[in-house]
Amino acid sequence: PPSAPAAAASALARPPAKPAVFIPVNRSPEMQEERLKLPILSEEQAIMEAVAEHPVVIVCGETSSGKTTQVPQFLYEAGYSSDNSIIGVTEPRRVAAVAMSQRVAKEMNLSPRVVSYQIRYEGNVTEETRIKFMTDGVLLKEIQKDFLLLKYKVVIIDEAHERSVYTDILIGLLSRIVCLREKRHVPLKLLIMSATLRVEDFTQNQRLFAQPPPVIKVESRQFPVTVHFNKRTPLQDYGGECFRKVCKIHRTLPAGGILVFLTGQAEVHALCRRLRRAFPVARRGPPEKDDQKDSVEEVRRFKKSQARARKAKATALPQISLDNYSVLPAGEGDEDRGAEMDEEDEEALGSDLDLDLGDDGTDGAEQPDASLPLHVLPLYSLLAPAKQAQVFQPPPEGTRLCVVATNVAETSLTIPGIKYVVDCGKVKKRYYDRVTGVSSFRITWVSQASADQRAGRAGRTEPGHCYRLYSSAVFGDFEKFPPPEITRRPVEDLTLQMKALNIEKVINFPFPTPPSAEALIAAEELLIALGALQAPPKTERVKQRQRSRWSCPVTELGRTMATFPVAPRYAKMLALSRQHGCLPYAITVVAAMTVRELFEELDRPAASDEELARLKGKRARVAQMKRIWAGQGASLKLGDLMVLLGAVGACEYAGCSPQFCEANGLRYRAMMEIRRLRGQLTTAVNAMCPEAGLFVDPKMQPPSESQVTYLRQIVTAGLGDHLARRVHSEDLLDDKWKNAYKTSLLDDPVFIHPSSVLFRELPEFVVYQEIVETTKMYMKGVSTVEVQWIPVLLPSYCQFDKPLEEPPPAYCPEKGRMLCHRASVFCRVGWPLPAVQV
Ligand code: ADP
Ligand code: MG
Repeated sequence: PPSAPAAAASALARPPAKPAVFIPVNRSPEMQEERLKLPILSEEQAIMEAVAEHPVVIVCGETSSGKTTQVPQFLYEAGYSSDNSIIGVTEPRRVAAVAMSQRVAKEMNLSPRVVSYQIRYEGNVTEETRIKFMTDGVLLKEIQKDFLLLKYKVVIIDEAHERSVYTDILIGLLSRIVCLREKRHVPLKLLIMSATLRVEDFTQNQRLFAQPPPVIKVESRQFPVTVHFNKRTPLQDYGGECFRKVCKIHRTLPAGGILVFLTGQAEVHALCRRLRRAFPVARRGPPEKDDQKDSVEEVRRFKKSQARARKAKATALPQISLDNYSVLPAGEGDEDRGAEMDEEDEEALGSDLDLDLGDDGTDGAEQPDASLPLHVLPLYSLLAPAKQAQVFQPPPEGTRLCVVATNVAETSLTIPGIKYVVDCGKVKKRYYDRVTGVSSFRITWVSQASADQRAGRAGRTEPGHCYRLYSSAVFGDFEKFPPPEITRRPVEDLTLQMKALNIEKVINFPFPTPPSAEALIAAEELLIALGALQAPPKTERVKQRQRSRWSCPVTELGRTMATFPVAPRYAKMLALSRQHGCLPYAITVVAAMTVRELFEELDRPAASDEELARLKGKRARVAQMKRIWAGQGASLKLGDLMVLLGAVGACEYAGCSPQFCEANGLRYRAMMEIRRLRGQLTTAVNAMCPEAGLFVDPKMQPPSESQVTYLRQIVTAGLGDHLARRVHSEDLLDDKWKNAYKTSLLDDPVFIHPSSVLFRELPEFVVYQEIVETTKMYMKGVSTVEVQWIPVLLPSYCQFDKPLEEPPPAYCPEKGRMLCHRASVFCRVGWPLPAVQV
């Protein structure tokens, strides 16, 4: 402690380091002892002084130095939650928010009513809550309601190094909120906590903080970790390589826990199963029998019920209303429904990339091993909290702990007792395709910084070893740091989220790392076209392109769209689908479109004649099933989206069994993801409008004919920028345009993909979900559009020779020739839309 005179002098020179209040905490002696070992304890005074003196403080320290668990406690003891205010802590991952609130409550001997958490749909916050852990999306939603965040005296942004989009936006927003609160004399303290990575983006950013905030570094004890590289880098089967490596470590190396890094939930489960079979802990019951229903019979039944429903339907051409979207008055609803699209969703959406790591049946030949039992535990975001907590418990006597984890174990959670790390070197990341506008998930190499973080996990309690399943040459080619999410992700949804926060000039927002201006302008244009933002007056359009003079405020529709946890095109579909009972179908179509590649890849090269024959047979069967699912007449016009709807319906009818999926060329995992997403979207709708009272009815009845037509209109309204028109023989430019389509986005001819049920139909106008480029540019996920819908559903893509009446006519009478405007391509080949016929 400083000497008395020195302390007095510093007390004169500065405001007191701690508020006068001191809240005692009644920790158990064991807990207290454990805490005292954490390196951050020696920095308590430095941190608290910095917080007292500066509005913004950065705390930087290695993972497991105690930042997340201890700093909220320091603040609590120093009285930062007095007067009924709250210490808020944001985490980019839900797992961390839940686990950390539980851990801190336990350390402080306080109930979860006081140390609580809030994640998207779930939480235990009460009136008594003093420390609140939440996902960054939750805090963002709170800012929408109370911009000054008056119930907080301190906000801690944790794991800032992860640079999740919402973390970045929060830091930008909070930099302003801190100033506003200062002006009002109710100061808000902001703490940014980060592992030791690239703090300069925060400190050296003048737009963000005029005064660079102080950085407090926490030194931590780290034991040496010996890194072993593979000689060769396995190309595909890193799952199998992980399995072999764990087996070898377990059989030959001394005691100590093993931590394996894989990329996704399915991989984690596959490896866990394989390891459990190889090193059983205790005898388990016989494997449960999967139900063996006759899938063909199920399909027949589904078909029958579909036919029945089709009989009982209206025949008039129905029309959805574009105005019927107000799900709830703006600003109401629950606070936790999420802007956040965090890793759970990524995992949910990214299933198409989960490699099959030798699932049940494929590796049955492995014999159980006689050595020490292995206590195998999975760890990933969506795992139930009780199961997650298991990794923190010591393993049963006489067993070795082996945790198979996704990236969550890299920095957010610290598992005790790990001595060996097995790193596959990969991570699942979301990618955005600028041409098609569809995001996808890819497994890529991690960055050097991440690989080193993973290795560090082995040296927490004693010297450890890290086995990298790739060569040192490959490591040398890794990026140094992962690029911030915001630079590699679509900005339409975050633009919409920010507009919903009334941040009108997104381009001027103090992002720690700004996305490109082009990306922001493109996003704004899409949102205007979707009706989520108010269009600038015509005269302003040109200027706006030069540099955002006109800010486009959010519309009521935009606010509604902002509440759905899906990309804006899909959100628009959902917002419009509360008409004519379409919502459950729209939810299913959106869920199925978001999980890509529902169908197995059958065009792959065959290894043998036998396999070739099998693939051929299956291709024929799948094509036949697709025709059945697509149906005839009105239903066929919904095209590939009807196939999705029919496939999901039929599969659920058959109890969603793996056998059914296998027999019909459907990917079982994708089907499970769709089921989960349907549940999630239904919950989102219910949270928004409780009177909707939807539930996921697995055995969804087929839509009626008029509902199918409404669905086509809903899809058209959402995918308006993906409109394509057939090239006619008289317009043929040259042979490469035979059977081709023109889109508004590309100059080249595009074609309907051969796997589409509309491949031979060649409708005049279509919308597509995405374009894939193989030998040609192909449209996938195709649905037909009636020409007279275009000016009504997509007025922003049309140029009218007379201005539209205000409000736009519900059904457009004779308006003369209408040019499809947005598509200069249409104009280029001289294609006016025909006059609208009523
Ligand atoms: P940081 O945020 O700096 O990474 P944490 O505060 O998360 O560090 O962790 C500090 C220490 O607390 C670590 O040693 C970790 O092992 C321990 N710890 C965290 N959560 C738990 C838990 N649920 N059970 C047991 N120990 C935990
Ligand atoms: Mg932490």
